[in-house]
Amino acid sequence: MPCNCSEFQNITSDLQLLNKSVLDIVTKLDVQTSVLNRAVFKSATHCGCIEIHATKQLFSHNKTLEENQTDVDNHVEGELCPKCKEKIEEEMGELLFYLASMCSALNLDLDEIMSSKLDHLKTLGIYNLL
Ligand SMILES: [Zn+2]
Repeated sequence: MPCNCSEFQNITSDLQLLNKSVLDIVTKLDVQTSVLNRAVFKSATHCGCIEIHATKQLFSHNKTLEENQTDVDNHVEGELCPKCKEKIEEEMGELLFYLASMCSALNLDLDEIMSSKLDHLKTLGIYNLL
């Protein structure tokens, strides 16, 4: 079922009780980013369903941005197993919860932010990456 950002933000806002202060939300968002990153890395270091092989990204001045984009690597080999996928999705959901909470605390609209960013991405396309 597609998610409605406004509904997500409203429910998030309704459920904020202990961490309603923007200071608590900012620190929770920061901590949750680390928790998510740890879940990704544990998929490689504890489970082993993925491997991360980071190397220098080589960009060619003789190629277009589109050609270079297809050449760059995400450094991930393999596929997340169901258990790691579920854990990472859970932690991403928590991250979205705190992001939506921050929007509410600052009287910002997550849906409008996503729409604005989507328009920006559509307009600039690959040049957004520069
Ligand atoms: Zn795994």
